[in-house]
Amino acid sequence: MHELNLAKERGTKVMKFSEMPYKRIDMAEVKSFFEKLIEDSKNAKSGEEQFELHKKYYEYIGDIHTTITIAIFRHDIDTTEEFYEKENDYIDEIYPEIDQYKNDYKKVLYNSPYRDYLEEKIGKVAFKNMELSMKSIDEKILPLMQEENALVSKYDKIIASAKIPFDGEEYNISLLRKVLTSSDRDTRKRAWKALSDYFLSVTDEIDDIYDKLVKNRTQQAKELGYENYIELGYNRMTRNSYRRKEVENFRKQIRESFVPFVTKIQEMRKTQIGVDELKYYDNDVFFKNGNPNPIGTPEEIMNAGLEMYKELSPETAEFFDFMMENELFDVLGRKTKKAGGYMDFLPKYKAPVIFANFNGTSGDVDVITHECGHAFQGYLTRDEEIMEHNDLTMETAEIHSMSMEYFTYGWMDKFFGDRSDDYLKMHIQDSVTFIPYGCMVDEFQHIVYEKPEMTPAERKQVWKELEKTYRPWLDFDKDPFFDEGGFWQKQGHIFWDPFYYIDYVLASVVAMQFKVWMDKDFKEAWEHYLQICRLSVCDFYENELDEVGLKSPFRDGTIDYLVKEMSAKVFEK
Ligand SMILES: [Zn+2]
Repeated sequence: MHELNLAKERGTKVMKFSEMPYKRIDMAEVKSFFEKLIEDSKNAKSGEEQFELHKKYYEYIGDIHTTITIAIFRHDIDTTEEFYEKENDYIDEIYPEIDQYKNDYKKVLYNSPYRDYLEEKIGKVAFKNMELSMKSIDEKILPLMQEENALVSKYDKIIASAKIPFDGEEYNISLLRKVLTSSDRDTRKRAWKALSDYFLSVTDEIDDIYDKLVKNRTQQAKELGYENYIELGYNRMTRNSYRRKEVENFRKQIRESFVPFVTKIQEMRKTQIGVDELKYYDNDVFFKNGNPNPIGTPEEIMNAGLEMYKELSPETAEFFDFMMENELFDVLGRKTKKAGGYMDFLPKYKAPVIFANFNGTSGDVDVITHECGHAFQGYLTRDEEIMEHNDLTMETAEIHSMSMEYFTYGWMDKFFGDRSDDYLKMHIQDSVTFIPYGCMVDEFQHIVYEKPEMTPAERKQVWKELEKTYRPWLDFDKDPFFDEGGFWQKQGHIFWDPFYYIDYVLASVVAMQFKVWMDKDFKEAWEHYLQICRLSVCDFYENELDEVGLKSPFRDGTIDYLVKEMSAKVFEK
């Protein structure tokens, strides 16, 4: 008991990020910790005793995770800094080994004679997840997994090293985004052409990488005794309560109800951007005068966030203060900083950290709404004793962040000034339009892994057909790359994590239910939002939705209901 109290005391100690000490992980120490833990755990004389040991695991692995996060974060905020560059490399090296120790220990836990007691304490979800993870990996497929990683890196390199000439300058893909969404139609048309030219020059290479990936993953599945990669992919995504059949029914509802809804939105967008015919290069543009960007300096954006969260609720006020007080944001764009943005958590200090690169677009505000939604959930559940309760699966994690985007609608004038209405219009149209696309990415992968023998040309044909089903309004204007079923090659998730993408879609339709709810009763919706955040993943996905009063996306009628409610919002003005 004494030990536990100490851990608690230490954990609640507030500290600025820059003052957090860092010490390299000693792998000899990790090895002896796990050896002793595994031995003691096997010899435990009761469930209580084994659970006490498991709490030691929480503390130890919490410290390890904290150390790893600090090193990676400090490396990411200045990739030229030598000390943390070395530490980052070191972590890449030791990470698989730590994972292996964790797996070895979890096997002992899973096979415990006191399983009932432990399941009562740690939860059914955790044990189901252990089962799925044990079914997903085996030493005999490690060489294949290494090859898989190498193929993914090869794809990443092609995307990251792209040098796209445009108007006398050279762009990479992420910088090109600015001209792809230019308010000047001719500019964005030419920018899309430049992007298409680039992809045409590498499409054979990407086809080859993907072909190898599909065959590799299929072989992994076969060696583990699966018929094809789909089941294995589901297990790797920790689909612990819904499977292929449920997801199929979800996509069916989207095809039937959502696609006609989104098609109608496109008609409206025509007027908004002032064109007679929508072309694919108009797809990410929402207004004649361009998409709205936030006003003010990064400091002003952060201050607006502070004011917003103060007004939203006592819980968010405390959260944002805590983040600012302890310097847990690093959001300013700098040359030596790694690209992108994310949120992570430091268990030792019970503190979330947020990494981002502000660039003057509405993406900066997403950091304050979306990433802070993730961080807020982490903050709310910081005192949760059972670590497994926070092993979030993505369809749940994204509910916390995507719903926060809607809960903060009322404060967008602080960020967008007189274009806040435009921003809200864009946000809702964009969110709705995303849904069919997300399903298309998911269905594509199901077809691909069901028939791994397809040729690259046949895969492109599959995508081309799916475009007609899910995005019938999209006119690719006979572009030699995009009109020939190539679009998926720019969607990284298809390469990185098969079947991941649908999680965004599932979370999105739940977040929209919160939007409907808050427009009827903001306070009640917010209380239930807090409830789902606090539930974390204590229970299975659909049970939790039910408990909070939300409809499962898999159930017939949910999507139809949502389309009716959301239509009223999209077309009301
Ligand atoms: Zn997210």
